[in-house]
Parts: sequence; C-alpha cells; structure tokens
Amino acid sequence: MIIRNFQGILISLILTFISCRGFSQDSDSVMIRKIFDQELLHGQCYRNLNELCSRIGPRLTGSPQAGKAVIWAKELMESYGFDSVYLQPVMVPRWIRGESEKAYILSDGKPNLLNVTALGNSIGTGIGGIRAKLAEVQSLEELDSLGVEKILGRIVFFNGRMDPTLISAGQAYGKAGVQRNRGPAKAARFGAKGVIVRSMTNLVDDYPHTGATAYEDGVPRIPAIAISTLDAGELSRELKRDPGLDFYFETHCQMLEDVLSYNVIGEIRGHEFPGEIIAVGGHLDSWDLAQGAHDDGAGCMQAIEVLRLLKDIGYRSKRTLRAVMFMNEENGLRGGLKYAQNALEKNEIHIAAIESDNGGFTPKGFGIDAADEKIEKIRGWAPLFKSYLIYDIAKGGGGADIRPLKNAGVPVIGLRVDEHRYFKYHHSALDTFDAVDQRELELGAAAMTALVYLLDQHGL
Ligand SMILES: [Zn+2]
Repeated sequence: MIIRNFQGILISLILTFISCRGFSQDSDSVMIRKIFDQELLHGQCYRNLNELCSRIGPRLTGSPQAGKAVIWAKELMESYGFDSVYLQPVMVPRWIRGESEKAYILSDGKPNLLNVTALGNSIGTGIGGIRAKLAEVQSLEELDSLGVEKILGRIVFFNGRMDPTLISAGQAYGKAGVQRNRGPAKAARFGAKGVIVRSMTNLVDDYPHTGATAYEDGVPRIPAIAISTLDAGELSRELKRDPGLDFYFETHCQMLEDVLSYNVIGEIRGHEFPGEIIAVGGHLDSWDLAQGAHDDGAGCMQAIEVLRLLKDIGYRSKRTLRAVMFMNEENGLRGGLKYAQNALEKNEIHIAAIESDNGGFTPKGFGIDAADEKIEKIRGWAPLFKSYLIYDIAKGGGGADIRPLKNAGVPVIGLRVDEHRYFKYHHSALDTFDAVDQRELELGAAAMTALVYLLDQHGL
C-alpha cells in the first residue's frame, strides 16, 4: 500500500513536472511568437536608425555630433516612457581628422593619387607630409623578420589581406586587424617613419577603411593611414616594378585633450527582482567617414527596441532591464570601462549583458561567454528559436563594450549575425543607412528581445 502510494505520488510528481515544463515551454513559445510578430508588424528600430543616421550622422567620440546623439538617444528613450533614463558621465579621448589626407606615388614622373584615410588615434604628418621608400610586409611576423636595417627610415606597408578562406569574416578581420592595431607601434620600434595598412575588407574596391591603432608607451608615435584594397594592389605591383619608389602622404589628424561625454542608459525596473539587471547594448559612437549605420547605430537601436517592444506588448519584467548606449567603443572603450567600474562600485548584480555590434544583419544566434552550466542553460532554449532560423547558440562571444563586465564575472552574450557582407561597410564611407535592411534589423531586435525575455523569466 505504502509502496503503491509512493509510486502514485512519484508518477503524479513526474506528470506535474512534465506538464509544468510543457506549459512553460508553450507559454515561452507563445510569447516569443508575439515578440516577433509585433516587431515585424510594428517595429520602430529601422525608423529610429534612419533618424539617427540622417539627423545626426557620423558620431566620432568627443565630437559635437556624438554629443547630439547622446541627447537624441536620451530623448528617444524618455519618449518611450521607460522608468528612468539617465546619462553616465565619462571622460573620452578627442581625436580629430582635420583636413583630408593626401597620398601619392610618382608614376613616370607624375603623381598617382591613392585613396587613403588616417587611422584613428594616429598623429598627423602635418604640412609637408612624409616622403620615404617603402618596406612591404604581409604580417607582423614578417616585419619582425626584416629587422631594423630594412625598416629604418622607411614607410612600412602592411599588405596582409583578410583571409577569404576563413568562413567567419570576424575571425579573418581579427587576424588581419592586428596589422592596424599594433602595426604602427611595432614598425616604430624598428625606426619606421610611417605606416600604411591595407584596408580590412574582403572586397577589392576604392574605399579606405579606418579603425583605431594603439601606440605603445616609450615608442615613438608615427603617422599611420589605411589604403583602399584596390590601391594596395596597385602599390604592391608598382613596388615590384620599382622597389626604390618614393611614397608621399600627408595627414592632419591630432589627439586633443580628453572631453566629457556620456553613456546613455534607459531602464525598466523589475517588479520581482529589481536588484538583478539584464543589460543590452550597442555603442553610440561611430567613425567619421559615414553614418555609422551598421557600426553600431543598428546595435543601439536594437537595444532600445528590446525595452520598447517588451513594454509595447505589455510584458512586466521580473528583473531590471537596461538599454545601454556605450560611448567610445571605437577608439578607447572608455564607456564600456566606465559602465563596468560603476557597476562594481555600486555592487550591481548583472545576470547577463548582451551586445549587438556585428552589423544589423540577419540574426543567426548568440555567442556566449560564461560558465559552462550557464551556456548549457541558454542552449536549452534553442528549440524556441528554431522556427526563426536562429540555430547558432554556442560558446564564445560577447562584445567589446561588455568585455569589462565579463572581466568582472558577468555572463556576456553577443548577437551573432550573417556577417559576410559586414566588412564591406565597416569603418568606411559605405556604412550608411541604405546599407541596412529593415527586415534583417528587425529580426535581430526580435531575437535579442526573445533572449532577454527568457533570461528575465528563467534567470541564469
Ligand atoms: Zn562597432
């Protein structure tokens, strides 16, 4: 009798568990359907991105436009009636490009102009420019192998391309990108006068792509530019014909004193666990060559959309949800560092931080950097995303702005997108609003909203 009762209790417990799980999965899937439907029918992130791009445009850190973007983003979130919207002050670098760059080689005695752009944070050559012979290398390792005698007094030309055989464009960018990040400082150690870097794009075209370079303390700072891939090819061919040719370039960029700027934060307070925060963000600053539509206007507008959308469908969050527009991702990461420092000082508990900073393309999944059991918990939600063609939920990812939070132990998640076309636009004059597709942008916003909903419901 006792045994039968025990079995009965056990069976009814199992049935209850199954039905609860079933109910939970069902209600989650109904809610996620609602999120996607509402976004695809009445989404606002595309419209908001248009406004950010056309009314404000390029938002280089510390520039008046970046300041305008701060006010605009704050007013936008206020208009949505979030519980609080506030600015988080942060001192940021103020790098300016100055007059346009000029570069040429002499072909048959005549200057052959090349498409170049100064690298972010670079010093300028000033009037008079730099004229020197070149040393072409394909990697930092090749630079090392040449040593001082072959570099001293020359301009180093880093011509390593993004590896087209790597299926992850982001990985190819990371591998080739070290030439831009660390190349100028390394070349300066060998006595180089300046640096040219092949633009980080898979395409062969006329557009130079900028991006930050990092100088090293105790090493001379030398001017550095990026050259379009088409002109990089031409330069390399000319150099083979005439290894002694002179290269001339002139840049007028400079680093000014730090200025005050802000992260912009919008918040919906949780009604059950207000002390637990789920942050979702992008970076509000952009390079100055275009509108910063994909990088990262898209991510910012998606982050705001997550909160707006949940509010719009009448969802009351258990936990506190935050949309964070980070400042200065591109050439200093000061906003990301300040946000994490502030969170630590206030003993805030972030259960997760999510960033979208790979362009506003079709969402494919989420890259997670967290303890294995947390990754497994999120992977357990994979069936809920399948009908939205989101399959790629895996270890590894995040975003530059949330890396400081990760270093403080917060689980971080990056939106994974179809990034094959991203580096066509990235950091170049092509990164304009018309390059963003409404449906792709909205699907990304809905995917992030669904993830935030699941994190809010089930914790991490
Ligand atoms: Zn970015």
